[in-house]
Amino acid sequence: MDAVSREEFTKLFYSRQLMIEELGSVGQEKLSKSRVAVVGVGGLGSVCSLYLALAGVGYLRLIDQDTVETHNLHRQILYTPDDLHRPKAEVAAEKLRGQNPLVQVEVVAKKVDADNVGSLLANVDVVVDCLDNFQTRYLLNRSCVKLHTPYVFGAVMGLEGNLSVFNPPETGCLECTMHNPSNPQPQKVFGIIGASAGIIGSLQAMETVKLLAGLGSNLAGKMLVCDFRDMDFTVVPLPKNPHCQVCHS
Ligand SMILES: [Zn+2]
Repeated sequence: MDAVSREEFTKLFYSRQLMIEELGSVGQEKLSKSRVAVVGVGGLGSVCSLYLALAGVGYLRLIDQDTVETHNLHRQILYTPDDLHRPKAEVAAEKLRGQNPLVQVEVVAKKVDADNVGSLLANVDVVVDCLDNFQTRYLLNRSCVKLHTPYVFGAVMGLEGNLSVFNPPETGCLECTMHNPSNPQPQKVFGIIGASAGIIGSLQAMETVKLLAGLGSNLAGKMLVCDFRDMDFTVVPLPKNPHCQVCHS
């Protein structure tokens, strides 16, 4: 694509989004200069990263150590049977680049651990937690507190889902709300209907876009609790814990 056709393509690509007055070209420019780490490109991360790429978030870092398995395919919408056994982060990056060639996507096909978490999350404006295990979530939370990076939390368990934005010192952190046990239990595998991951993943993308573009208010200090059985969506306050060892200084 030459420079002129790229400019025309860009204008048309985002034209419907640019019609949102609160976003406009100023907000779009902020998105294009933004950097986001999406940790986990499974059910939540497939949807969230796709919408972030389509919204024009300039740089996405996809972090996931897993490969595509058959039991992923009913909800992890970036993957098809042709992608089986390939690294998810690599396949996801290919799909996102195909969907929006205007954004840059970096692949990190690594397990997040206590030694590498700081470097994996460095130099981004927002971290999106699309994981399915709390031990790694706690690592992310601690690292985000240290790095002063807003942390968009999403989780789906069965027919329920949660969403929040942690951004200390404005809010508490994940561990103000969810206790980090010293003897963690093995990770429980929950059943899931794909659409519920799609809902929470979309909402994570929405909160991230709003944070980056400075749009509206977000779920900082609150949690959206969704019960998909009855389509009951409730927002509950998440007070800071003054005794939290992670974010209270
Ligand atoms: Zn805390």
